[in-house]
Amino acid sequence: MRHEKVPDNPLCPLCQQEVLPGDHVVFAHAEIVHLTCRLKSDGVADSVAHLLRRDAGAEYCQSCVGRQLHITYEQAVKAVTALRMTSRYRVRAMGTCSVCGNHWMTVRAEPPSVPESV
Ligand SMILES: [Zn+2]
Ligand SMILES: [Zn+2]
Repeated sequence: MRHEKVPDNPLCPLCQQEVLPGDHVVFAHAEIVHLTCRLKSDGVADSVAHLLRRDAGAEYCQSCVGRQLHITYEQAVKAVTALRMTSRYRVRAMGTCSVCGNHWMTVRAEPPSVPESV
């Protein structure tokens, strides 16, 4: 198959594939994610969500998320990407991890006062 077209479709951050017109997608902030990718990541994302909610307000960096759940860093990154799509989780580009204390990108659960929109 030849690729002569310059891809002008947005990339799904979960699978790094183009999002084609007609694909089922979910929108979040400035990003578009395949619905299937979103669903596929839900197993791991659920575990991450559970961890964050159990300790609501605490910030976790992605490597600590991975360590706590015994998943790879890459899985943690994908799960955090998926969680970022919902309003219940807040990602900070430079937060302080409450586990390792390092300044990283962190994620935390918002207090449950915000109704979930998904
Ligand atoms: Zn995708
Ligand atoms: Zn950490």
